[in-house]
Amino acid sequence: MGTTNSAAAGRFTRESSPLTQPMMHGTAPLTARLEPWMEKVISDPDLCQELIKQYGSPLNLHDYSSMGRNIAELRAAAEAHEIDFQIYLARKANKTLGAIDKAIAEGCGIDVASFHELDQCLNRGVPTERLIVTAAVKSAALLRLAVEHGVVISLDNVDEATELLEIAGESEQRVAVALRLASDNPAIPPTRFGLKADQWLSFLEQADKPGKLKVDGIHFHLNGYDGSQRALLVAESLELIGDLRELGQEPAFVDMGGGIPMSYLDDENQWAGFWEALAELPEGDESLTWKSDRLGASGPEASSAVYPFHQKVIRGGWLQQVLETKDSATQKTIAQMLRERGIQLRCEPGRSLLDGCGLTLAEVAFTKTRSDGAPLVGLHMNRTQCRSTSADFLLDPLLIPTGSGRQEREPCDGFLVGAYCIEEELILRRRFEFPLGVGKGDIVAFPNTGGYLMHIIESASHQLPLAKNVRLEGRETILDGIDEAGASLR
Ligand SMILES: *Cc1c(COP(=O)(O)O)cnc(C)c1O
Repeated sequence: MGTTNSAAAGRFTRESSPLTQPMMHGTAPLTARLEPWMEKVISDPDLCQELIKQYGSPLNLHDYSSMGRNIAELRAAAEAHEIDFQIYLARKANKTLGAIDKAIAEGCGIDVASFHELDQCLNRGVPTERLIVTAAVKSAALLRLAVEHGVVISLDNVDEATELLEIAGESEQRVAVALRLASDNPAIPPTRFGLKADQWLSFLEQADKPGKLKVDGIHFHLNGYDGSQRALLVAESLELIGDLRELGQEPAFVDMGGGIPMSYLDDENQWAGFWEALAELPEGDESLTWKSDRLGASGPEASSAVYPFHQKVIRGGWLQQVLETKDSATQKTIAQMLRERGIQLRCEPGRSLLDGCGLTLAEVAFTKTRSDGAPLVGLHMNRTQCRSTSADFLLDPLLIPTGSGRQEREPCDGFLVGAYCIEEELILRRRFEFPLGVGKGDIVAFPNTGGYLMHIIESASHQLPLAKNVRLEGRETILDGIDEAGASLR
């Protein structure tokens, strides 16, 4: 293994508490905020070893207790403004059944994005009024299932709405829908999702003569995490609700979708420092990232190609800002406007609800050097198993020294590579230091992977099995059998 001799590495200091002397960190550290349950797991090498032995590598561990805290934070902000409020967990962010169960136990609903997601929730006994179908593309089977059970469907386009009317023609009942609204406001970036208000209004007037569609609410979901954009869209949705009431509809909610921000790391200076160091990095210098990858940033500004892993205003504080935003036309706050019209505000957080709920363990398979001498640490894992659509997952993993020969180890550094037969098969794109060395049989823990990172793009390429999902209850583990057993918890 190579030793650290990079210019960048020396510039960073890391606060080392005696309890958590890091055995692994980025050459520019990005220290994850850990939940107490994660700290417990990481500080128990025997447990980690047993789990990997029993379930294989990598392994996704879950403890859903943090979800309750995350939910309470959002509800407190809504209660302070005395608005009617409901949360729907975005199912696509995590595929375990435990996530559904926890959200339902907390009194939330579920936002589903496919036939299987809906079918599974229904089989699990989720009450229909606590479901919404927001799939971007909906199969006839999905539409039929939703109609059959009276689950609200968020309509995206006219073809879909027409198909739904055909399906609804077979039944006596009116069909509960939400209209997915694409903003007319030039301040909002263009979106592929939904239709503009006037398109929906003319569709209803022309195509829904028998009044089959019962418009229960307005739905939107914006890219990014900007609270002021959400406030603009809530106001625009309330305007559309006014027009719909004139058509005899009685919409009762505005659903502002997901994108409620969270923060993965506490140290703002670390986050800023990482991007500064990356910007200063000479071309070809691999002291920070593989092949001096800029991770989508061309200048000193942080990249828009990755999630903002450090954010100041998150969840409750963020919702409060949205609710306190004043509409420029009426000078009333969003909360006031919702209250006056008796409209419920809904949201569909995925990532920020699953904050603190997941941890991924993977076993070190080998250490070696690239043909030019660059140090590599190979994991029993592939890069689809800790990744979102972001250019990289920017948190330091933790090293659990379960391998042999620890006495003879030397401090070293290296890149984490995975199982796919591709040169660019990096688990993470950053370079890591191992102050006490690293070796075959050690375990690497990726913190806070429950929202998207463990599931959203995972693939079984090379016929490598998907990672097992396990719920932790103390030292007890319960296999969440979604991968193998469909709708039953094993
Ligand atoms: C993905 C998605 C969400 C969840 O977004 P987060 O960023 O995880 O909060 C909510 N609603 C819809 C319609 C989505 O597509």
